[in-house]
Amino acid sequence: MAKRAMVIAAAGGHNILMLGPPGSGKTMLAKRLPTVMPQLTAPESIETTRIYSVLGKLPAGQPLMAIRPFREPHHTISDAGLVGGGSPPAPGEISLAHHGVLFLDELPEFNRRTLEVLRQPLEDGTVTISRALASTTYPADFMLVAALNPCPCGYRNDPRRDCHCTTPQIERYMSKISGPLLDRIDIHIEVPAVQYRDLADGPPGTSSGQMCEQVVAARQVQQQRFPASTTRRNGQMTHRQIRQFCQLDAECENMLKATMDELGLSARAHDKILRVARTIADLEAATQIAPSHLGEAINYRMLDRQLWT
Ligand SMILES: [Zn+2]
Repeated sequence: MAKRAMVIAAAGGHNILMLGPPGSGKTMLAKRLPTVMPQLTAPESIETTRIYSVLGKLPAGQPLMAIRPFREPHHTISDAGLVGGGSPPAPGEISLAHHGVLFLDELPEFNRRTLEVLRQPLEDGTVTISRALASTTYPADFMLVAALNPCPCGYRNDPRRDCHCTTPQIERYMSKISGPLLDRIDIHIEVPAVQYRDLADGPPGTSSGQMCEQVVAARQVQQQRFPASTTRRNGQMTHRQIRQFCQLDAECENMLKATMDELGLSARAHDKILRVARTIADLEAATQIAPSHLGEAINYRMLDRQLWT
């Protein structure tokens, strides 16, 4: 399930959150994401290279960034280190992740205010550093992968170790995550402890190369969908575009309504489900969203049904 979610996230450019105990392979999954995304185009490569060049971070003997960046800043990072800033202003981790992946492990450990400044870049794909005299804008079009433990000790529902965390402790831990940031995340998955073995063995048909082929095909569908728009991926669809491109038949309409009522989901969650359902349909080259696509998309709203509204 985790690998499948990675393909969907890469295909539609959806930000993703993983919930699982330590050692369940969350970092390994996140690192795999850039390898299933389409190869960098020449203009993308030049843009990303420029940022690394400004910071003197181009690897020795490598004039151009050839693969999508993967950045995993530690939770002690400063605002300026993450989004950019300082004097003179310099790009931060989110710009180093431009056209690639920003991985935030142990999300609740990050400073809440630091996370909230990610909201605008996640919407715009750029970050503007304002100073008294001038402001500078850097590119920051990245996919966010966030990970967290299921409870403060990390071992809730894990057969390997006992967990004595109380419900209030778990709720306090979860509530440390910034709501505005969570609003930008379309897909939630659980990565159980046993997942690691599944990843290492890997069933046939799920090599990175094969996963990437599926992603590239789904991205081509999206390119044709948004010819004259700043939207390039399903994950960026506006409410109006969702109404236009994610029309449901009566069966899907009823299914979604029943789920919304049952889980008490917000209008925002409604839009996220439809964005993800559109990507799942694109992966099957289906023009119409089917109940199976919608059902799978609903399953990726795990946190809505557990601890959040
Ligand atoms: Zn625990």
